Amino acid sequence: MILSIESSCDDSSIAVTDIVTKEILFHRKISQEAEHAKYGGVVPELASRLHAVDLPKLLEEAKPYLDDLKAVAVTNAPGLSVTLLEGVAMAQALSIAKGLPIIPINHLKAHIYSLFIEKEAIFPMLVLLISGGHTMVLDVESFDEITVVATTMDDSFGESFDKVAKMMGLGYPGGPVIEKLAQKGDPDRFPMPIPLQHSPKIAFSYSGIKNAVRLVVEANQPLDEQTKADIAASFQKAAIAHLMQKTKKIFATLKPKDFAIVGGASANMAVREAFANLCARFDCNLHLADLQYCSDNAAMVGRCAIDAYYMERFSDALTIEVSPRTDNIS
Ligand code: ATP
Ligand code: FE
Repeated sequence: MILSIESSCDDSSIAVTDIVTKEILFHRKISQEAEHAKYGGVVPELASRLHAVDLPKLLEEAKPYLDDLKAVAVTNAPGLSVTLLEGVAMAQALSIAKGLPIIPINHLKAHIYSLFIEKEAIFPMLVLLISGGHTMVLDVESFDEITVVATTMDDSFGESFDKVAKMMGLGYPGGPVIEKLAQKGDPDRFPMPIPLQHSPKIAFSYSGIKNAVRLVVEANQPLDEQTKADIAASFQKAAIAHLMQKTKKIFATLKPKDFAIVGGASANMAVREAFANLCARFDCNLHLADLQYCSDNAAMVGRCAIDAYYMERFSDALTIEVSPRTDNIS
């Protein structure tokens, strides 16, 4: 078995996975969302202190498995350095106490592996990662060969939902609440500019839509409930249209047979529906993770670690490093 630890942002999570059957034997997560909601976003220092409280609680629950471990896996990049360190410190202690190798796991690769929980991996695959920190199209050839086809020039897709929610006083995280509000709104009441619409650039940009929303919010004070819903719907329509326009161009060039959407924002039903239509038109299989595995969790870290284990991608307590950076998805 492998014990996996996730603490890259505001979720503390631990899982235990069977290396042979890929079965998840234990999986628990404590989300800090309610704590950060008061501030309208994640406060790194607070997140780090909460991991220090919650990770030991989860490890205590996983105690029955500790004598059967072959390795301990931990997210070590990218993310907030101060929160990554909490998970890595726990992995280091376990490694020294139990004589176990550490498997360092890249968080973005773990999101990709959320597709393969208790299943075989499928490669090659074109993957759209939409999360709190990233908006990327990745050409995934194998565990080791991951090429960034497109990324955002400024805000990420999930982040723009968080910021729009904050502008309307709707708390954090913004994704689920904006999606729910949008269902009751008129998506055509406030037409938003679609970024890079006339540019050949294969990239994403979300700061322009965010600023357009800001102007609408300011011009319609005080916001009544219907106006909030209409803003949410208009914003979500433009945000998804932008994702679709650029991904469609990538589809036309790469003609993928298998396409997936991963990351916290892949739980959005309007996104799922839009891409189901695109995939049908391009005769491409759409892969989605179970809703419970879209946002950060240790089960996806554990699943990724199984493949890393067989490839002997080991580190140890004295050599493992933490990095906030995204540039190398290895
Ligand atoms: P990263 O994975 O890039 O390091 P992260 O781990 O903080 O960032 P995730 O946990 O994968 O991000 O995803 C959280 C993000 O997903 C938040 O920005 C949240 O608002 C967004 N999100 C969650 N549900 C939805 C939804 N239904 N619609 C749109 N966005 C959503
Ligand atoms: Fe994430």
